[in-house]
Amino acid sequence: MPFDKLQKFFAGPAPHLSREDAMKVFKRDQFQCQYCGLDGLHQFSNWMILTIDHIHPHAHGGARKMENLVTCCQPCNVIKGKRLFKSFEDAKAFVLKRRNEWEHLYVQQAKVAERTAASHHKA
Ligand SMILES: [Zn+2]
Repeated sequence: MPFDKLQKFFAGPAPHLSREDAMKVFKRDQFQCQYCGLDGLHQFSNWMILTIDHIHPHAHGGARKMENLVTCCQPCNVIKGKRLFKSFEDAKAFVLKRRNEWEHLYVQQAKVAERTAASHHKA
């Protein structure tokens, strides 16, 4: 793969945002997801999934300024999507509520999976 294509592939954690600017946001937020609190400072695997979120979505004309940018893990970014919120607090409440719903689903699914695995062992 030519180098310029490779560079494009690793363009950075958010489209149209330079790596330098992204790093400024990460540092200000201490490499923590501002929604769920995921710690990307002490865990490499967490750091790998950190992105930059536009609080007011870029797709809706949100500014590429520090005040509008926060460190955000990929799952929280996907949950928030391009929805519009009145404030960061509103966005955070929405994301955390959805995460909670997903967690309930996960717990149920994990129980079913464990039970299935256990019954297979008996047989
Ligand atoms: Zn998060």
